[in-house]
Amino acid sequence: MDSKFGYPDLSPSAPSPQYQQLPPPPPYSSAENYSVQASPYPGGPSQSQPPSYPPPPPGMASSPMLVTVGPAGFGAYPQNMLCPSCNQTVITTTNHKAGILTWLASAGCCLIGCFLGCCLIPCCTDFTRDVEHSCSKCGRKLGLHRRI
Ligand SMILES: [Zn+2]
Repeated sequence: MDSKFGYPDLSPSAPSPQYQQLPPPPPYSSAENYSVQASPYPGGPSQSQPPSYPPPPPGMASSPMLVTVGPAGFGAYPQNMLCPSCNQTVITTTNHKAGILTWLASAGCCLIGCFLGCCLIPCCTDFTRDVEHSCSKCGRKLGLHRRI
């Protein structure tokens, strides 16, 4: 009888302090320990990098500091750019090639009735032809300037 009486079946006050004594897992301390252990350079706790790395804003995704002209920046004339093949700043060599505008102009000439060789005029003029930029040293094709 005594054992049944002394055995506390439901004591709400007992488990609550034990539950409060449990320290919550600190996420920051564990992250610092992990970053310090993961640092390959010894003896540099003061130079530990901040764990919070700021994400790059979406508006600054395109690097404005690069001077390298992209494929969309090619013009109709030779320009100075860095060749990725020979790693030298070269002046591109332009080569005119028949592009979409060339064929459209030729087709337009045929449609309006210029059958006596007039449709070949767009193929001979550089105004309607695309400009292909190639490296002047290694000859690699660097970009293409499309008229249309
Ligand atoms: Zn080159």
